[in-house]
Amino acid sequence: MSLEGRTAVVTGGGRGIGAAAARALAGAGAAVAVSARTAREIEAVADGIRSGGGRAVAVPCDVTDPEAVEALAGAAAAELGRVDVLVHAAGIASSAPIRHLELEEWRRVLEVNATGAFLCTRAFLPGMAERGWGRIVYVASVAGLAGARYIAAYAASKHAVVGLARCAAAEVAGRGVTVNALCPGYVDTAMTRDAVADIAATTDRTPEEALGFLLSQNPQGRLIEPGEVADAAVWLCGEGARGVNGQAVVIDGGELLA
Ligand code: NAP
Repeated sequence: MSLEGRTAVVTGGGRGIGAAAARALAGAGAAVAVSARTAREIEAVADGIRSGGGRAVAVPCDVTDPEAVEALAGAAAAELGRVDVLVHAAGIASSAPIRHLELEEWRRVLEVNATGAFLCTRAFLPGMAERGWGRIVYVASVAGLAGARYIAAYAASKHAVVGLARCAAAEVAGRGVTVNALCPGYVDTAMTRDAVADIAATTDRTPEEALGFLLSQNPQGRLIEPGEVADAAVWLCGEGARGVNGQAVVIDGGELLA
């Protein structure tokens, strides 16, 4: 297994892409600390990994809280010995035209998606660089590379994550550590189901029509599976990807090229 002997923290690990990444990392041999705010979700993911013969612990953390992030780093180091890999999937979505986008909502989205990524990077990157091996993989979004209507806060926060990946990658290049961002299109998770419900409610479409609109964004006419994003994260964590650094890896069926 490619990650045998490695240790990983997965934020946003309670469901969706993060849960898939936690399972995939464990499947590749890593011991995993699964983190998010909802204890029962991360415990269920960690339980599932342990019942499949893997090694996992659940550590609750709100990534917007600097002390909680430091506590996560301490708990993960205590449980796993050290942290080699951070897959940062914690994030929230938000949608509104700019004229209706409240400052509070703008701040909330930037706080979770951008500041959360910064705090987790600051907590885990120095140890990786000191030990001479590490991987950080952010789950950003195609919205980290391109704009669209009604997602100004989300897109700004994900552009920040891509920028953070490039800067962190530059800081640790040559020290055995890589930092990259995954940029998926619409993925089949609760976040996308909420987006479908929101589009249906605000545009006078049925849920089927709203889903059809999202599917039409992907030239393959489908949602990306969480496991596809998880597989890319495992690849970035392997030795074969040691030359991939500071990249935004797009997983969208060709949406940005179409
Ligand atoms: P999801 O099913 O809603 O999962 C989001 C995860 O983030 C949950 O585990 C959630 O747990 C956690 N989270 C949210 N706020 C947090 C906070 N303040 N502190 C710690 N954890 C927090 O969404 P998903 O689709 O898997 O999304 C995962 C990541 O992929 C997000 O960053 C999202 O922006 C990105 N992404 C999603 C899509 C998509 O189409 N779904 C596409 C591109 C990128 P708690 O609420 O329990 O904390």
